Amino acid sequence: MTNAAFSKRDLAVLWHPCTQMHDHEQFPLIPIKSAKGVWLEDFDGNRYLDAISSWWVNLFGHANPYINAALKTQLDTLEHVIFAGFTHQAAIDLAEKLVQVTPEGLSRCFYADNGSSAVEVALKMSFHSWQNTGQIQKTKFVTLENSYHGETLGALAVGDVALYKKTYAPLLMDVLTAPSPDCYFREENESWAAYSARQFAKLDALLAHHAHEICAVIIEPLVQCAGGMRMYDPIYLTLLRRACDKYAIHLIADEIAVGFGRTGTLFACEQAAISPDFLCLSKGLTGGYLPLSAVLTTQSLYQTFYDDYAKQKAFLHSHSYTGNALACQAALATLDLFERHHVIDANMVLSATMAKLSQRFLNHPHVADVRQTGMIVAIELVKHRPSRTPYPWQERRGMQVYHYALKKGVLLRPLGNVIYFMPPYVITEDELVMMFDVAWHAVLHATT
Ligand code: PMP
Repeated sequence: MTNAAFSKRDLAVLWHPCTQMHDHEQFPLIPIKSAKGVWLEDFDGNRYLDAISSWWVNLFGHANPYINAALKTQLDTLEHVIFAGFTHQAAIDLAEKLVQVTPEGLSRCFYADNGSSAVEVALKMSFHSWQNTGQIQKTKFVTLENSYHGETLGALAVGDVALYKKTYAPLLMDVLTAPSPDCYFREENESWAAYSARQFAKLDALLAHHAHEICAVIIEPLVQCAGGMRMYDPIYLTLLRRACDKYAIHLIADEIAVGFGRTGTLFACEQAAISPDFLCLSKGLTGGYLPLSAVLTTQSLYQTFYDDYAKQKAFLHSHSYTGNALACQAALATLDLFERHHVIDANMVLSATMAKLSQRFLNHPHVADVRQTGMIVAIELVKHRPSRTPYPWQERRGMQVYHYALKKGVLLRPLGNVIYFMPPYVITEDELVMMFDVAWHAVLHATT
């Protein structure tokens, strides 16, 4: 079978995520036959370096031998079992491990099966917890401009990317939205920390004014990923934690994208030395193998639900695949790999190489910003550099980068006019060189 043959069958029956299917009349779909490490291979024998970790999920390469072996053993033992009234070893081991590696104070783990549903769980738990403790006037959530938390209606409501949200606005709950700490907008010569702290003052004012009706603030720590890999300083999180304590508001840290080493530390919150009240994890949790998510919370929050059944305080939320044994085992193997290979330390070398290789873009006449947080590098293309005027979205410059890079064997998937790199941690120095080189030529191609 060839690419064309699979593509034809696919397009006859499938509907792909986040895609205008009409585009595929012009741009071919790429059927993948197999994958190994950072490489994907299609049915025509072309290879693509997965520079975006297949939507930010893959950490240790495709078909990783260690994760594969763990999964095969689990498969022969227990694939899945109902998680209400029943439990199993992989789920317990993983919860113990997550409690151990996440910021202090998070000692309870609730499983769901994808990022959006983890966000729904955290929102519902926060609201419900206030209800259970008699604070029934607390019904609102605070979010930041340009944030993204998923596609289900609750998660979409607390996000702020118009492209995904606008159409559904009449269906969504009202939220309070504060300005983003996004350092792309800092003044010339202003430090990230100064700008982030300055932006925080606006959130602080909003919290002070609405505290009595606010359940929680939800935030993507350090990097607003889907919003264009926009970055900010940890000081913002430190100040936010303090304010949430002061005003009795929960802090929900959505580390679905930034968790598991992406920002340079295992969790982004570590860089601000804070613990949230809820920590949402998914994506890299299973090394990119299987859908699973987890919401970590504190013992005191857990206690607000813990009572006689008749008091009707229980959290009656469920997903059929909660605590799936295969997914939990993939996650355990993934966390093992972090320890065995001292991945956080090793990634410092990789991120230094990424910093070096991205320097070349700094002087490009259509690049307004080159930014990095740990293992994430982003390059902002603009039409006019001095005024930072963006390219009109209709020109789809990012798409041009995407198609050019694919032909040269690299899978980049720009967010609008932002080209970014978020590779699996098993990428080699040579592969990094190739990845940045292809991106450079793709940018030259798309900006002329
Ligand atoms: N939160 C963040 C920060 C994300 O980046 C994403 C996915 N891009 C989600 C939530 C939603 O996760 P999922 O796609 O698994 O529903």
